[in-house]
Amino acid sequence: VVNVEAMCRQICQDARALSGEARHEFQLDIAERHFLRGDQDQLRSAFSNLVFNAVKYTPAGGKIFVSWYTNREGAHLSVKDTGIGIDPIHIPRLTERFYRADPSRHKETGGTGLGLAIVKHVLLNHDGKLEILSRIGDGSEFICHFPRERLAEPETLPASATEAGNKV
Ligand code: ATP
Ligand code: MG
Repeated sequence: VVNVEAMCRQICQDARALSGEARHEFQLDIAERHFLRGDQDQLRSAFSNLVFNAVKYTPAGGKIFVSWYTNREGAHLSVKDTGIGIDPIHIPRLTERFYRADPSRHKETGGTGLGLAIVKHVLLNHDGKLEILSRIGDGSEFICHFPRERLAEPETLPASATEAGNKV
């Protein structure tokens, strides 16, 4: 079981270091029920790919919102930015390996185009789905949707599981 709150806090801390001089503003909004049944390393890799992308594709001073919320359908992790956005023609192919949208292909921003392929793979392993909402110049939002059955109740967990989740 993964403590999503602790994990996202750590990822935002790392992302702030990555942002450096660009000084992106981070906002974290995590619902009370934030324990998810899943693989700690895989989920960390998926969520950090989304947050690091937000830093990479958002100009200096931009904002990055990381939020976790639950509803009737399940649990949802949203990573939203005020960055360059993505042309809708690219969106269906973004999770393919090595696919990079214009202008990333031609730009000096490093990358191999594997990040979102990893995200898709991890979500597949967790019965989840990735939703991508974006418009050129208007920023992007990447939402990981998980089914209700993946939510865990912290009080029913053995103490060791909670600790492991917090240790991130
Ligand atoms: P890598 O993650 O392997 O270092 P990458 O970031 O280019 O390289 P992905 O993370 O798979 O690869 O992203 C694929 C493409 O999707 C990127 O090249 C970029 O064009 C686009 N993209 C991803 N996230 C964003 C975002 N937050 N804003 C705008 N474009 C994005
Ligand atoms: Mg990436």
